[in-house]
Amino acid sequence: MAAASEPFRLLVLPGDGIGPEVIGQTLRVVDWFGRFLGRPFAISQDLVGGACLDTHGVPVTDAVVETALSADAVLFGAVGGEKWDSQPIHLRPEAGLLRLRKDLDLFANLRPAICYPELASASALRPELVEGLDILIIRELTAGVYFGEPRGVETLANGVRRAFDTQAYTSEEVERVVRAGFDIARGRNRRVCSVDKANVMQTGAFWREIATAVGRDYPDVELTHMYADNCAMQLMRRPKQFDVVVTDNLFGDILSDAAAMLTGSLGLLPSASLGAAGPDGVRKALYEPVHGSAPDIAGRGLANPLATILSFGMCLRHSMRAPEAADRLEAAVRRVLARGVRTADIARPGEAGVSTTQMTDAVLAELDAM
Ligand code: NAD
Repeated sequence: MAAASEPFRLLVLPGDGIGPEVIGQTLRVVDWFGRFLGRPFAISQDLVGGACLDTHGVPVTDAVVETALSADAVLFGAVGGEKWDSQPIHLRPEAGLLRLRKDLDLFANLRPAICYPELASASALRPELVEGLDILIIRELTAGVYFGEPRGVETLANGVRRAFDTQAYTSEEVERVVRAGFDIARGRNRRVCSVDKANVMQTGAFWREIATAVGRDYPDVELTHMYADNCAMQLMRRPKQFDVVVTDNLFGDILSDAAAMLTGSLGLLPSASLGAAGPDGVRKALYEPVHGSAPDIAGRGLANPLATILSFGMCLRHSMRAPEAADRLEAAVRRVLARGVRTADIARPGEAGVSTTQMTDAVLAELDAM
């Protein structure tokens, strides 16, 4: 592992819409932690998405992908906007993000769902069901039915049209994401729930078999299995029963969005996408808020920066291996919310809400005060 005094190489890709606004504020928090940890950040910043299309004609350049491959982590804002909506799929702003995920082989998508007590009333569920919720959904991101071949639409001999996709997983693809789940659970409450459809799908039974085998290497972590449909129900019925949920690409896509709604606001949801650990034990990683570029509020200083600030918190935890620093940042955010500081998206009815900068000021003030 790199010595703590070596600069941490962070590639920053603000993107479009509110991306530059929330990233700009998050960089103030990055700067604070550089001083706190006594470890400088070597930051390079570049274009991605629509901004990159306008300048270079592609949503991400080869040079940026190269820099991402050699960086310790990537901090990504958001991409997209009406201006580029008519581009062909491979030249849409989102294609830049997809290429980064693919080229960095980021196979584990981490989506925490944390419900801050002060915001429990914003959840789609009753406050007592979600208050204090802290779960982590890990979605396999680079294989499964979204990538499986063959896929297509055909016309049968009788003239009937038929569409098909292929759900396929290799043992390596299952093992590496399940193993990431166990490793991460060791830094949490040591419980992994592996989610599949082992009752009706070959890939489900296979997933369960491999998860069980991997579990034997982690006797200190409790492993349970759950069918995906039951998991959807349990997330609504008693979400606090989970710690780490690990599942395939399709189920993870749906279950992580359902879990997101337990917490109330898009502006608060961070994410991480992790790749394989290198010889130094450090994984390739990209950190980004779950939300998009929010063109409806871009350029007005209204965006909630907390999802991006908390994404950087995940970088402190998973890439910088500074869990105390990550805890400190999450505690600062919690205190800010407890004090009633709100951007417009989480403001109480009739309240104006503070600006993107003022919200960040409040987080920095809490960090200074702690
Ligand atoms: P969105 O997440 O950008 O916005 C949905 C709603 O949530 C909007 O009303 C927006 O104002 C609000 N919102 C989102 N983030 C917020 C924040 N930080 N603070 C306050 N309010 C916030 O989703 P959308 O409107 O469906 O998509 C807008 C653009 O973003 C599209 O071009 C879409 O393709 C793109 N997009 C990009 C990503 C990404 O970069 N990873 C993800 C989703 C959507």
